[in-house]
Amino acid sequence: MNFLEERIIKDGVVKEGNILKVDNFLNHQLDVGLFDQMGAEWARRFEGVEINKILTIEASGIGIACITARHFGVPVIFAKKSQSVNLDGDLYSAEVESFTHKNKNNVIVSKKFLGPGDKVLIIDDFLANGCALQGLISIINQAGASVSGIGIAIEKGFQNGGTIIRNMGYRLESLAIVDDMDAKTGKITFRA
Ligand code: 5GP
Repeated sequence: MNFLEERIIKDGVVKEGNILKVDNFLNHQLDVGLFDQMGAEWARRFEGVEINKILTIEASGIGIACITARHFGVPVIFAKKSQSVNLDGDLYSAEVESFTHKNKNNVIVSKKFLGPGDKVLIIDDFLANGCALQGLISIINQAGASVSGIGIAIEKGFQNGGTIIRNMGYRLESLAIVDDMDAKTGKITFRA
C-alpha cells in the first residue's frame, strides 16, 4: 500500500451512495504534508513531461494543486464555478455536473491565463464519472492549449470516469484507485 492508500484506510469513511469521505485530510481539514508527498509523487511520475501550468477546479482541488505546483515551479489556475448564464467573451466555459452535489455549474477560466502553447497538468482530488475532468479538458481545448497529463488523488475505479479518460488517450496518474468499497462493512479495496 502506498502512503495515500494507507491514509485512506486510516481516516477515510465509506458513505452510502458511493461516496468516500476524506474530510479529515483532503476535503475540509487539509494535511499539507500529505499534499507535499502527493506533489512529489506526481513530479516523479511526470518527470521529463513539458508542463508550464497546472489547472484545477474549485474548491477541493486548489490546495492540492498549489502544493503540487511547488514541485513543478509553475502557476496554478483554478476553474471557478459560476451560476451566471451571462458569460462574457473573455472567458472559456464548460458545463460540469457535480457528482457530490448533483447540480450543474458553468466553470469558467479567464482567457488571460490560458492560451495556445500552454502545456497543462490537470490536478483534482477525486475522479468518479469524469464530468469535472471533461469540463477542464474542454476549457484547455477551447484555449488551443494541450493537456500534458492528469493527476488525481483518489480515483473510484468502479465508476467509469477513469476508463473514459484513458480511452480518450490522456495520461492519467491516480495515486490511489479504489476498486471496491462497502458502506456497511467500511471495507475499501485498492487496485494492485
Ligand atoms: P466526477 O466529475 O468525476 O464525477 O466527480 C469528481 C468530483 O466530484 C471531484 O472533484 C470531487 O469533488 C467530487 N467527488 C466525486 N466522488 C467523490 C467522493 O467519493 N468523495 C468526495 N469527497 N468527493 C467526490
